[in-house]
Amino acid sequence: MSESVSKRGKAIVVSAPSGGGKTTLCRRLMDELPGLSFSISHTTRAPRGQEKDGVDYHFVDEAEFKALIEQDAFLEWAQVHGNYYGSSLSAAKSQLESGINVLFDIDIQGGYQIKEKMPEALLIFIVPPSMQVLEERLRGRASDVEDVIQKRLEAARQEIEGAVNYSSWIINDDLEHALQTFAEVVTTGRVAEFNKDELKKRVLGDD
Ligand code: ADP
Ligand code: 5GP
Repeated sequence: MSESVSKRGKAIVVSAPSGGGKTTLCRRLMDELPGLSFSISHTTRAPRGQEKDGVDYHFVDEAEFKALIEQDAFLEWAQVHGNYYGSSLSAAKSQLESGINVLFDIDIQGGYQIKEKMPEALLIFIVPPSMQVLEERLRGRASDVEDVIQKRLEAARQEIEGAVNYSSWIINDDLEHALQTFAEVVTTGRVAEFNKDELKKRVLGDD
């Protein structure tokens, strides 16, 4: 996938700890930038709430997912929170080759797999301003029970530590400001640069 073809679309990977605001920001960005396409992942997890098959995810069972792995049908895949998730290679390839920019809302394991195959991919990490704010947002969303919230907070620390090689980190403090930075990074490819070690310490409260 890494051969350079002129007018090829850009792969834009967006990752964040659960509750970081990735869904909110990706939806807003898709509204603002109509030319952008969203990669619909396959997953073995059950649909939640209003989610629709073929719109939010392609919902498959574990046997189907494993058959797709065998067929090399994924650009990347990973196990996240006990379920399998993967991005369709054929869908991504045809869009990128038609010059369409594709947004991948995936975890950092998947992000690094894409970067390995397509070094020109943009890796964007959305980070909450602090663990306290993250906890408030997870509780505010009211979609998870207490032990799930605790597990997500623990996983969040590891994801923040693991995202060190993402080129752009966007702090999701004020939503409109974060959206503006997000749109700018996506349209210009500009790297949102700052001292990641300091930011990591600030977010994780490890000063
Ligand atoms: P993710 O998809 O990363 O798990 P969500 O987009 O579901 O996160 O956001 C988690 C919660 O935080 C939601 O209730 C959302 O409305 C809220 N939220 C997201 N961004 C902000 C923000 N900048 N300020 C305040 N609340 C936010
Ligand atoms: P959720 O189940 O809450 O929709 O997603 C859980 C996590 O899986 C999120 O971090 C989300 O970004 C990630 N995810 C969704 N689709 C994919 C995918 O195709 N590949 C990978 N690696 N992660 C994914």
